[in-house]
Amino acid sequence: MKTIALIAHDGKKAEMVSFILQHKKYLTDLKFVATGTTGSHMENAGLDVEKLLSGPIGGDAQIASRLATKQLDMVIFFRDPLSKHPHEPDVQMLMRLCDVHNIPLATNPATAELCIRSFS
Ligand code: PGA
Repeated sequence: MKTIALIAHDGKKAEMVSFILQHKKYLTDLKFVATGTTGSHMENAGLDVEKLLSGPIGGDAQIASRLATKQLDMVIFFRDPLSKHPHEPDVQMLMRLCDVHNIPLATNPATAELCIRSFS
């Protein structure tokens, strides 16, 4: 079973919820892991998800660790490009490791849709 990581910055959490609800038909037979607050939003939207730490206190780093050890098949990370984030070094590290390990990384709904369709 493939595992997808979900992360959304605060300004993008509503977009992530909407994306998940719109694409539920593609999301069966997949496992989900998410940073803490994103995960809570996903649970409220009816998704079964493993929640890690909140992003700014280590959740992004936990997801980076998992992808580096081949425990993740894709990362959907809706970043907010219009605001600053105290954990920007963790964000950069996560994206860098996606490239190091050739893990698909979708940073907007258009790309995420193409990736998710390819998994179904
Ligand atoms: P959060 O973390 O889901 O706990 O808000 C996301 C992030 O900002 O990296």
